[in-house]
Amino acid sequence: MIACTENCIYAEDGLCNLNEVTKPSSTPIKDCPYFKERKNKND
Ligand code: SF4
Repeated sequence: MIACTENCIYAEDGLCNLNEVTKPSSTPIKDCPYFKERKNKND
């Protein structure tokens, strides 16, 4: 997993839980093709 603190449906506890993402952790989040905004933390 990689570190990520975006408000993304895949981000949990500061980590990306999307297994497909195996890029280096320093990848700018704006380049993440998997980002999906989540509207509340329970989603
Ligand atoms: S999919 Fe991208 S934006 Fe979403 S948690 Fe993972 S790295 Fe962050």
